Amino acid sequence: MAAPLYDVAVVGGGPAGCAAATTLARAGRSVALIEKARYPRDKVCGDAVPAPAGRVLLRLGVFREVEEAAHRIGSMAVSSPSGSAFVAPGPRRGPGEPGDLVIPRARLDEILFRHAVRRGAAGLEGFEVRRVARDVSGLFRIEAADGRAVEARALVAADGARSVVAREVGLAPRPKGPEMVALRGYYDGVAGLDGRIELHFAAPALPGYFWIFPTGGDSANVGVGVTEAVLERRGSLQEVFRDVVARCAGVRDRLAGARPRGPLRGWPLPLAADRGGTVADGALLAGDAAGFVDPLTGEGIFYALRSGEIAAETLAEALRDGDLRRSALAGYERRWRSEFAESFRVGRLLQWSLRLPRLVDTVVRRASGDADLARRVAGVIGHAEPKRAVLSLGFLGRLLATGL
Ligand SMILES: Cc1cc2nc3c(=O)[nH]c(=O)nc-3n(C[C@H](O)[C@H](O)[C@H](O)COP(=O)(O)OP(=O)(O)OC[C@H]3O[C@@H](n4cnc5c(N)ncnc54)[C@H](O)[C@@H]3O)c2cc1C
Repeated sequence: MAAPLYDVAVVGGGPAGCAAATTLARAGRSVALIEKARYPRDKVCGDAVPAPAGRVLLRLGVFREVEEAAHRIGSMAVSSPSGSAFVAPGPRRGPGEPGDLVIPRARLDEILFRHAVRRGAAGLEGFEVRRVARDVSGLFRIEAADGRAVEARALVAADGARSVVAREVGLAPRPKGPEMVALRGYYDGVAGLDGRIELHFAAPALPGYFWIFPTGGDSANVGVGVTEAVLERRGSLQEVFRDVVARCAGVRDRLAGARPRGPLRGWPLPLAADRGGTVADGALLAGDAAGFVDPLTGEGIFYALRSGEIAAETLAEALRDGDLRRSALAGYERRWRSEFAESFRVGRLLQWSLRLPRLVDTVVRRASGDADLARRVAGVIGHAEPKRAVLSLGFLGRLLATGL
């Protein structure tokens, strides 16, 4: 039987793939949104959706639905290796502007997938892509593990950190620096949750951190992210997790009476990796498949949504012009670089600085006595301020004034 033909096949039904498929369908293109799982499906994540991601969701026409299912965040708490801490309010926003949210990915991704289908994408669940071939006419044939196949003129690889499609189209991963791995669990009965996300820069996790993100009531998404070097030294992520809980009072007290809901699960974070390019003839990489993860925080939902959106706009234009060669798609790379590259560069620098516990202590201690500095540090961590703000003379001057 002939395989159905689409303008674009988007592989991966996470934020990147759903954003790409929705945008393409709205541009009038036939698009298959291919996902190996069936919804609802879990994705190991901290579930924090920063305000800039909300702005993409607004453009996609799905923000209100997501917001209704989410827990709204009002502030951020940050603690240092020696136990200093500050709490900063969330970014100021105008009426109707999205704020920070926490929503379990099992819920978020199902909402995004169903929305893409309502907007006209053909949603193919339970379709695990094993092989991608391109014939002489340039058509892609995308084959599933169970023998199903679809054909498409163009392809978006949005199949996450372990992308099969990136490899199949010849864009091999090439990490630029230390990669991160993270462990996450859901807990009920967490003490003292107060509508704020918490980042604990506890010594055993540096240059990573331990998080507690409230999901509603006394429940929270709890986890720890560390570099591979820390993992090699410590042997296992569970060990780091246990160590933080045992040694960091701000975490221990909160989890003392908490009950895990299911096992802790781990997953890699492809931090601002350069995958040897994100564009091939007829194909683009988006989201984690392209390595678009903030090196400082591991945040990737915004980058996934936004890169999916830019990939779709690039392909819609290329399909209109009838030219899908790599050179015709190069605008994708220019656009994401102009929007993300600086943030990734400064993020790498900041991630490196987390190797210096005394520096982290000084910044948090200083911010605990300076509300404006606290708001700015929280803004940089939480994506409300551009990361380059930390390079400004005013910012550095206030830190140096502490006798760093
Ligand atoms: C522990 C942890 C905590 C994190 N916390 C946060 C956070 O709080 N906030 C934040 O912004 N980011 C966070 N991130 C990063 C965020 O999870 C990712 O950046 C984001 O999910 C990337 O979206 P994506 O659509 O590119 O990929 P994914 O969300 O990984 O989606 C890829 C999809 O492709 C599907 N797929 C994979 N292979 C195939 C195949 N062969 N065929 C068909 N389908 C396939 C998968 O099933 C999946 O649905 C965290 C990551 C981790 C690991």
